[in-house]
Amino acid sequence: MGARRDYYEVLGVARDADGKTIKAAYRKLAMQFHPDRNPDNPEAEDKFKEAAEAYEVLSDDNKRAVYDRAGFDGLRSGGFSPGFQGDLGDIFSHFGDIFAEFFGGNAGFGGGRNRPMVGADLRYDLEISLEDALTGTARSVELTRSIACQPCAGTGAKNGQLTVCAVCGGRGQVVQGRGGFMIATTCRACAGRGQMAKEACPSCGGRGQVDEQKKLEVRVPPGVDTGVRLRLQGEGDGGQNGGPHGDLYVFVAVTPHEMFVRNGPDLHCELAVGFSMACTGGSALLPRLGGGEVEVKVPSGMQPGDLVRINGAGLPRLGGRGSGDMIVHLTVHVPKKLDDAQRKVIRELDELMPVTPEFSATGPDRRETQNKKRKSGGLFDRLRGALDGE
Ligand SMILES: [Zn+2]
Ligand SMILES: [Zn+2]
Repeated sequence: MGARRDYYEVLGVARDADGKTIKAAYRKLAMQFHPDRNPDNPEAEDKFKEAAEAYEVLSDDNKRAVYDRAGFDGLRSGGFSPGFQGDLGDIFSHFGDIFAEFFGGNAGFGGGRNRPMVGADLRYDLEISLEDALTGTARSVELTRSIACQPCAGTGAKNGQLTVCAVCGGRGQVVQGRGGFMIATTCRACAGRGQMAKEACPSCGGRGQVDEQKKLEVRVPPGVDTGVRLRLQGEGDGGQNGGPHGDLYVFVAVTPHEMFVRNGPDLHCELAVGFSMACTGGSALLPRLGGGEVEVKVPSGMQPGDLVRINGAGLPRLGGRGSGDMIVHLTVHVPKKLDDAQRKVIRELDELMPVTPEFSATGPDRRETQNKKRKSGGLFDRLRGALDGE
């Protein structure tokens, strides 16, 4: 670059110029000598670099003080190696925000596109049993997520060395004439970043991210239902440009149970009793979800479809107080086949307690419901249908 020029001279400002004046002077020079406006002009590129170097020192109070006192040598012995001689990309990455400010958002040097971005949220589907939903559970899950590549610090460039994108000249956009209009589109070569790797990072192949197998302990609270999403903050993909991780969402699905149909915190089941218990009443022991038994009292004279509610024998309310109920749907077991002795006793009963077939107009609603009942299978089918919004 030949002999060093004084930084104040480079920017054309007085030695006591304030920060605002220095910034404005640099802005003017950066636009004038910008490589986009001066393609294949090494002289302009040198001026562009010279101005960037001057601005870097004079915009920093500490460096400026050292320079004022001891000049270039002072800076060098202070550990600052002045100059962007090597690389335009250094300038853009260093002053990306300023350029974005100068040129307005992404229209500048892809400034906005190098900002840290939050990583993607991830989804994990977890299926648990109804018993697990009752007590809550902890599951170890393993997932693959993307994290920033360590050797290249997420840049995708070998040793983190970036250079200005040759295709868009660092703008992050390419402008094409189409039907008389000039249309700006995102540069594909650099994905709008304005920078490219000098050489692809061998660890990630230039992606900037690598896959990681992550094992996590997921705590599933009692009372969860199908459709509940559990959020694990910061366990998603790593962000671009050093941005924070996204979140992991665990989507819970509860496997249908063979004995109980769930409706919110309530558990429904069916109990078919014999004719004599339906008439005289009695009690039966039913298995309870999660173990043990629960006694169901059948009232005398019960009718098919009557409900017996056992308070608190359902599932805990998610995030709330107390538990749902167990709701037993009563029905009467009618034998399909009888032997001679049984048939004889039933006939005798009929003589003792004659029942004339009774017809009553119960209304279209009731009839419709009964037809529906006949068409579908058992209680489970009906309830599941209802829960599916049939
Ligand atoms: Zn580009
Ligand atoms: Zn890498």
